[in-house]
Amino acid sequence: MKLFNFTSLPSRVIFGDGSLVQVKQEIELLGAKRALVLCTPEQRVLAQQVLDLLGNSAAGIFDRAVMHVPIETAQEARKVASELGADCAVAVGGGSTTGLGKAIALVSTLPILAIPTTYAGSEMTPIYGITESGVKKTGRDSRVLPKTVIYDPSLTVGLPIPLSVTSGINAIAHAAEGLYAHDGNPIMNLLAAEGIAAMGRALPDIRNNPADLNARSDALYGAWLCGTVLGHVGMSLHHKLCHALGGSFNLPHAETHTIVLPHALAYNAKHAPESMQVIARALNAADAPLAIYNLAKSNGAPTALRDIGMHEKDLDHACHLAMQNQYPNPRPLEQVALRQLLQNAFEGEQPHF
Ligand code: NAD
Repeated sequence: MKLFNFTSLPSRVIFGDGSLVQVKQEIELLGAKRALVLCTPEQRVLAQQVLDLLGNSAAGIFDRAVMHVPIETAQEARKVASELGADCAVAVGGGSTTGLGKAIALVSTLPILAIPTTYAGSEMTPIYGITESGVKKTGRDSRVLPKTVIYDPSLTVGLPIPLSVTSGINAIAHAAEGLYAHDGNPIMNLLAAEGIAAMGRALPDIRNNPADLNARSDALYGAWLCGTVLGHVGMSLHHKLCHALGGSFNLPHAETHTIVLPHALAYNAKHAPESMQVIARALNAADAPLAIYNLAKSNGAPTALRDIGMHEKDLDHACHLAMQNQYPNPRPLEQVALRQLLQNAFEGEQPHF
């Protein structure tokens, strides 16, 4: 076994159908008495439900979370938190809402309690992102890691099927890249394999019946494990490509991950054969990149960047961006091969290299 370091990130997890009712006692455990509930405008009803459960421990709702955490929104939320005398933030929603909570925690001592309703995994990481003048800056800071996470699968039943599938494959991407991370370790490899398997089982069942609570539980459990991998080890080419495509061409987050992942894995396949075997085994398949491609396609997810707003004329620039400030990657970045990867993802071809 190769030498490795492992520092476990602290987090308390409450998992299970109906666990949302524990929110008040959980913020009390954090020593908080006035919680500001964060949500997107679309999830206001759910935020109100959380507010009602908090009773006299609620400070109010801030319902303006949006994708990629614009600095203006972060500043507004920080101001509201301070005006209301909040001593804790409860982020109920997807990665965008958790991201807003992190932006508040970054400049205050407010602990975050996250209640994820997608599979993005942000609740398990000390990674934050804030967008200023069109540029998304990301960083790691232990202050932004949510102190407590409530995973209640019943809250994900309303997640539309297309977003369930793409968000699930977004989670798989964290685990897949964690398997070949330069700073990976056997503990994270176990979580990655289990997370991919749970998500791979769940997505077809969710597509057949979005109200299937067993499948929703499997998916959220998978998301937890995959998010934990993202929080503990460094990501590689796939995340770099998605960061560039999302940040500079405004492509939707989960769909971009879904389309790019098979191609990024194909690019790396010969340089990370053991990781590919783990992914393939977890998905009961022979070939890891093809298994991810088929998981997306057979569950109705997009497979071509051209179908989610990418323009072919921008592929050269995307390739240029991906070559800058490179993340560690099993296979060195080769410009011609990378440009081919982007072309394949643009066309939606089966992954090959
Ligand atoms: P999102 O949070 O933007 O949510 C997308 C939409 O789905 C929103 O309108 C939201 O209100 C709605 N929604 C969420 N859950 C729902 C539910 N259960 N039912 C119905 N509607 C629901 O999407 P996302 O993919 O979860 O998050 C993407 C963002 O998270 C990106 O900005 C990405 O960069 C960030 N992210 C950060 C990390 C990290 O570690 N920092 C990790 C993953 C993603």
